[in-house]
Amino acid sequence: MSSELSSVVEAHLADVPDFPVEGVVFKDITPLLQDPGAFRRVIEGIADRYRGAVDVVAGIESRGFIFGAALAYELGVGLALIRKQGKLPRETHSMSYDLEYGSATIEVHRDAFTEGQRVLLIDDVLATGGTAASAATLVETCGASVAGISFILELSFLGGRAALGDRPTWSLHTV
Ligand code: AMP
Repeated sequence: MSSELSSVVEAHLADVPDFPVEGVVFKDITPLLQDPGAFRRVIEGIADRYRGAVDVVAGIESRGFIFGAALAYELGVGLALIRKQGKLPRETHSMSYDLEYGSATIEVHRDAFTEGQRVLLIDDVLATGGTAASAATLVETCGASVAGISFILELSFLGGRAALGDRPTWSLHTV
């Protein structure tokens, strides 16, 4: 982890207690988006790590789309969308996973990746890892490989990294 990138992220996070439910501290990344210099630095920092090593970026709905789109543009590669159930209009692969209460399903278009493509998965926050692990499985179901999984912020006390197995995972800032 670059300590400079970590500091940029740390300085542009807002902690929101009891959102969306009591007991959760929501990590709001919108201050980072509001600062053009900081947003650019973060995108360039991630792009520099993966330049030449990935063929496509896959953003996880919804804040992963923001970082994913900028990153794909910067890297000069395409963008795939990993979406919540029922949003994608064509044939999909889907994966369900458990949440603290209930379950969730994410989907990707069956033609989002071609066989053997190297995919960089991106999301804002790694919490329990259920979302990113399912997204990685979707990529692999399509015959592509997960070349990296990147997060702006990792909540290490939730242990999400273990859910990702040995897939190469990088977080700009960890708490
Ligand atoms: P998880 O599957 O538990 O790793 O949750 C990851 C997803 O939920 C990511 O898409 C995050 O945007 C969101 N998320 C989970 N916990 C938080 C949190 N404390 N603050 C902000 N976003 C969160």
